[in-house]
Amino acid sequence: MSVPGKRTVFVETWGCQMNELDSRRFVGLLTRDGYREAPDPEEADVILLNTCSVRDKAEQKVYDRLGRLGAIKRSRPSMVLGVCGCVAQQEGEAILRRAPYVDFVLGTGRIELLPSVLRRVREEGDRPVELSFDMDEVAYTPAAIDRLVRHKASVTVMEGCNKNCTFCVVPFTRGRERNRRLEDVVEEVRGILEGGAVEIELLGQTVNAYRDPGTGADFADLLKAIAPLPGLKRLRFVTSHPRDFSPGLIEAMASNPVVCPSLHLPFQSGSDRVLARMKRQYTRSEYLDLARRIRKALPGIALSTDVIVGFPGEGEDDFEETLSLLREVRFAQVFSFTYSPRPHTAAARWEHDVPPARSAARLARLTELQQEIQHELNRALVGSVLDVLVDGEDRKGERSSGRSPCNRVVNIEGPARFGEGTLVRVEVTEAFPNSLRGKALRVVGTSGTRLENPAHVPQIIEQGDVP
Ligand code: SF4
Repeated sequence: MSVPGKRTVFVETWGCQMNELDSRRFVGLLTRDGYREAPDPEEADVILLNTCSVRDKAEQKVYDRLGRLGAIKRSRPSMVLGVCGCVAQQEGEAILRRAPYVDFVLGTGRIELLPSVLRRVREEGDRPVELSFDMDEVAYTPAAIDRLVRHKASVTVMEGCNKNCTFCVVPFTRGRERNRRLEDVVEEVRGILEGGAVEIELLGQTVNAYRDPGTGADFADLLKAIAPLPGLKRLRFVTSHPRDFSPGLIEAMASNPVVCPSLHLPFQSGSDRVLARMKRQYTRSEYLDLARRIRKALPGIALSTDVIVGFPGEGEDDFEETLSLLREVRFAQVFSFTYSPRPHTAAARWEHDVPPARSAARLARLTELQQEIQHELNRALVGSVLDVLVDGEDRKGERSSGRSPCNRVVNIEGPARFGEGTLVRVEVTEAFPNSLRGKALRVVGTSGTRLENPAHVPQIIEQGDVP
């Protein structure tokens, strides 16, 4: 139902946490301009498609979706339709040519221009295409982020990437590295914690390459500045590049217990030959040595990773090395993909010589192995006690569900009775490859959000303070 006099915006988000955060920035910026969020595109005055270009056929999927949104535009020509995100950055003007009903294209470095772009569309009949990057630092208005949940929040510390891995479109879609000032990040985190959040996740394409643009402080310094902030219970960060993982960062993680014992550290391939062709800037043994040093300083840390199979030139021996690395490191979670050429990347110009069926077969073998490893690791946790920060309900809506410090999904036995943001101490009773199940022992804290059904809590558990 529309509120008279208030324009509405609907944002459809594809892709990673960075895109999700960008979408909340869009909503926040427009809320300041008097908009409110529409529950679906049918009734929105502005529709934004916030796109992702990481997967195969991303462009085609965007055009397919635009075709359907174009039908809304034809029935309501006053509706404004914009394309944002990585495909917008990648395709630019071409989107306006192929989809003539699209009103504007906004690249990933131009988010803050959204209100003025909308005015240009409405008042000047313009069809803007804004794609450049401001290289000085990340244009960012923390106060204009419309955050959906209060118990945890993502905070961008840097954007872009200077690595140019030969398979990756990110340096093109997100530009070169731009860093926020350390004091600005700390102030944003402080404000979020004052609002009741207990978990913060720091975001950047290569987050551990962070450098304060003024002082040169590095990511370890940033962690050390954030860790003592009042109210912070859990600190995470993503995505780290192995090459930028300094001894100082390992030390900062180990000496600040608020840093969660989980780390996403993509290795991409276990073969030196493939790593060199990917231009990953480390070898298999360097990666393994890093994993060993991290585990030595942080025993029990859960490592997760990204892997690509079927990269151009990947032979059976190379793939076997990837499997052996999985066996050696024993990751708690693996995000694995078959290679697909992305526009503007070096590898896209090479012969794509691993047939799709072979890549698919390799992926299936890798997935099977990894599921076994995960199940073994998860089974070893049965009987242990974990503090679970509740995010909501499980997929069936039957149980409360949240994350452990080691970032595992934990579903809590019994009806879904713990509200979002409740910290529940849970004894693990059952293990599955992709999740754990456990029984609630006691509530150890609540964040800024209320208990959904507080009446149930005292009947089964004793409420205590957050340790
Ligand atoms: S470091 Fe990551 S974001 Fe940068 S080019 Fe490589 S894969 Fe892409």
